[in-house]
Amino acid sequence: MAVLVTGGAGYIGSHTCLELLQAGCDIVVIDNFMNSSVEVVHRIRKLSGENFQFYNMNLLDRDHLEQIFQKNKIEACIHFAGVKAVGESVRFPLLYYKQNLFSTINLCRVMQKYGVKNLIFSSSATVYGSPEKSPITEDHVLHATNPYGRTKWMIEELLKDLSLSDQDWSITILRYFNPIGAHESGEIGEDPKGMPNNLMPFVTRVAAGEYPMLEIFGDQYPTKDGTCIRDYIHVVDLACGHLKALEKTISARGVDIYNLGTGQGYSVLELVNTFEAVTGMEIPYQISKPRAGDVAICYADVTKAERELGWRAVRGIEEMCRDSWNWQSKNPIGYCSEVKTL
Ligand code: UDP
Repeated sequence: MAVLVTGGAGYIGSHTCLELLQAGCDIVVIDNFMNSSVEVVHRIRKLSGENFQFYNMNLLDRDHLEQIFQKNKIEACIHFAGVKAVGESVRFPLLYYKQNLFSTINLCRVMQKYGVKNLIFSSSATVYGSPEKSPITEDHVLHATNPYGRTKWMIEELLKDLSLSDQDWSITILRYFNPIGAHESGEIGEDPKGMPNNLMPFVTRVAAGEYPMLEIFGDQYPTKDGTCIRDYIHVVDLACGHLKALEKTISARGVDIYNLGTGQGYSVLELVNTFEAVTGMEIPYQISKPRAGDVAICYADVTKAERELGWRAVRGIEEMCRDSWNWQSKNPIGYCSEVKTL
């Protein structure tokens, strides 16, 4: 029996595939390389020594998806595939709703048809919008503030309705906080195309000399040093969270939702200072005006995941910085292949 991983060539997907393989799990991987590279598949095979089944396909192609279910004995699905750039989602909402919602509906319909009812879905802390307080618990009111976030929120609702309609489904929704870092080998990591939107890939590219300086978006927030606070989590810890979620999903029924973070917040300046201390690289920066939509403080309450999944993040902020830089310095131009964009 295999686990189907959609979006397995992406940043979190690739690290999860590797952990699954190293735990002895049989996997079948789907990706259309819209925001990733075929090189990722080669590297996961190299690191794991396993030649798993891979399909280059878009989940909107339901016939192709059915063929995959016919050819493979699938026991559970981990659904990472989706488009995820906030700014792009504001410019192209129809594409975002179509790609994220339709692909999830296709996947669930095919799963249902083939009697596969164990699903793990990649959601995001973005569904909390501007949280009223941190640490954020899973029962916090949801209020996504952009089309990308709303697709995540809508899919969560869709999955709850699906579970209500058929109690054989077992669905685990994982709300990720801010994944950074890379596999310690430096062979797989985050490879955003063009100018990065997120903090850590921008920091590593400043360190590499690709950009002259980091812009820190605002230093007048009500935090200890005035810069925003986030819950950064090592991507390998996040990947391990999926293995724990998988055990639970296969043995349970109904819907469960878990925050995956460390439970600890760091400011932008703390992250930059730690990066400099760990790597010895200098990160020139300037303070610029706040970025629209940013919230001052956002970090997770992770007690539910600890209690019910038996999982917690173990890698600290230094390790996150070290591994991010190791990946960047070993792969100055990322996976170096062409990427299809919207
Ligand atoms: N940030 C920044 N400069 C950048 C990118 C991000 O100062 O070039 C800040 C951003 O304002 C936020 C934090 O870093 O306070 C984390 O941003 P990111 O986009 O990585 O995550 P998110 O805001 O989505 O949690």
